[in-house]
Amino acid sequence: MKLLIVGGVAGGATAAARARRLDERAEIVLFERGEHISFANCGLPYYIGGVIEKRDDLLVTTAKALGDRYHVDIRVFTEVMSIDPNNKRVEARNLLTKKTYHESYDKLILAPGAEPLRPPLDGIELDTVLHLRNIPDSERIKSYVDRMKPEKAVVVGGGYIGLEMADNLVKRGVKTVILEMLDQVMAPLDYEMAALAHAHIKENGVVLELENGAKGFKKQGKGTVVSTKKGKDIECDLVILSIGVRPENKLASEAGLEIGERGGIKVDAAMRTSNPDIFAVGDAVEVRDFVTGHPTMTALAGPANKQGRIAADNAMGRKSLFKGTLGTSIVKIFDMTAASTGASEKLLKKYNMPYQVSYTHSGSHASYYPGAQIMAVKLIFSPGNGKILGAQIVGGDGVDKRIDVMATAIRGGMTVYDLEELELAYAPPFSSAKDPVNIAGFVAANILKGDVENVYWNELNRADNRESIFIDLRNKDELEESGTIPGALHVPLNDLRDKLESLDKERAYIPFCAVGQRAYIGHRILSQKGFKSRNLSGGYRTYLGAKEKIMKESSATKLWLSE
Ligand SMILES: Cc1cc2nc3c(=O)[nH]c(=O)nc-3n(C[C@H](O)[C@H](O)[C@H](O)COP(=O)(O)OP(=O)(O)OC[C@H]3O[C@@H](n4cnc5c(N)ncnc54)[C@H](O)[C@@H]3O)c2cc1C
Repeated sequence: MKLLIVGGVAGGATAAARARRLDERAEIVLFERGEHISFANCGLPYYIGGVIEKRDDLLVTTAKALGDRYHVDIRVFTEVMSIDPNNKRVEARNLLTKKTYHESYDKLILAPGAEPLRPPLDGIELDTVLHLRNIPDSERIKSYVDRMKPEKAVVVGGGYIGLEMADNLVKRGVKTVILEMLDQVMAPLDYEMAALAHAHIKENGVVLELENGAKGFKKQGKGTVVSTKKGKDIECDLVILSIGVRPENKLASEAGLEIGERGGIKVDAAMRTSNPDIFAVGDAVEVRDFVTGHPTMTALAGPANKQGRIAADNAMGRKSLFKGTLGTSIVKIFDMTAASTGASEKLLKKYNMPYQVSYTHSGSHASYYPGAQIMAVKLIFSPGNGKILGAQIVGGDGVDKRIDVMATAIRGGMTVYDLEELELAYAPPFSSAKDPVNIAGFVAANILKGDVENVYWNELNRADNRESIFIDLRNKDELEESGTIPGALHVPLNDLRDKLESLDKERAYIPFCAVGQRAYIGHRILSQKGFKSRNLSGGYRTYLGAKEKIMKESSATKLWLSE
């Protein structure tokens, strides 16, 4: 058995190690174009920021260490140039000696990853317009920051690499602008959740230019000017391009393997391509979205590693299946954590799949124990059986463990009723007796049971809601501190029962409070007393996060909220 592997990082190195563990006699050859195998791409921004101090700490293992332990023939600086599927061999080129040769295979695993997008914009070739994929890229950026001490940088693209770069550049004392084409950063999140991060990014001194992209770059004196699609010129010393990645599909497409619509190599659940002897894994492939069942591509290390293992299993004669990806991801943005798993609302809309949503805001641990931080939780679930379809969490401490519980719940096919019942570890420094995950389950279950009827932030500009009367149930000091929704009546929750006589049963009411808990009680009082009432889901906190968009839409259509 002779196994060839193309690409020696997340997917490729994992596949090599797994294949060896399964078959001590197989001949295994791994080709890697670069100098390093199995390096920590995910750590690169933190190396530039100085959080990871030594470059060698990024090397999870070396070619020699992996070769010695697993007896794999590792050929670095060697690029596979083409595949000849009919004769089952590849053409490889040693990039140092320029020598080209053929290597035959019984099975081939492709793990070539994805390359950063560099569209043909004017000035894209400038030496100050850099991107980040591997260790040499990180050295280039780090040594530029070390030597040139740039005062200002523009990060083009607000995905997780862009955000991590902004965070780390600010750590290095570089004033940073993020230029993002969409109206939000972190595309996997829905707008109102990303908007919570927008505020935090700005608080940390980063200029966030949304709905604006880079049009071109030019040198000006010692600096670089980024001209934007909206006609602005932004002067800076350094540009980091992080606008996304493109699957490295050249080898596969030239070999006649099937390629998906968005450029990913098509594979089945065994990670087998359209050729039965060739497998493909990682950023280069298109896989099944676990929730929607549609094809998707995720450039994430977790799926790449798991797929590498699965492909090796199948290549070596075992049966092993990849059941789909949830795209579970998490990013640290200064002191904030933003995470998501499963389907977003916008994805479900795209596929016309029914869903319902709940928003909750909970403390990371018991409020009386010092240091609790609020996290915003968006739960997306099926309106029929309450099956969890997706979750997004933005906050500080403890976001990581809650998103992982949600990811586990989705994988297990759980419903919001299961979340109500989950028994999670609790002591005051870690959680509350009702964990944020339980709370999200309670609120979602209340919606499904009809105990609460909600109105959502993105429905506020609808005509029927314009006719409704908002009731702010918070205390006076809270209004003074953070304002309220234009035109809202102010009735603190404890006074609501006394004020019912002054309300009009012909009108509809939208009670709200800070996060939705008091509003739920208010809604129960109102509805049981015969008033038409709907609770503002997520309360004033969710409204505030999304306010910019609500106001924009409101003023565009000259609606009441713009007053
Ligand atoms: C800066 C950065 C930060 C990241 N942070 C995170 C994170 O926090 N969390 C997360 O989940 N993911 C993160 N990722 C993504 C994650 O690193 C990738 O999803 C993962 O590495 C993909 O693994 P892969 O094996 O498919 O491709 P890669 O790891 O990209 O490896 C592919 C390798 O194949 C080699 N290659 C390509 N073509 C050939 C050829 N023809 N011949 C020989 N060799 C070839 C390439 O040189 C490359 O080294 C990050 C990525 C980057 C760049």
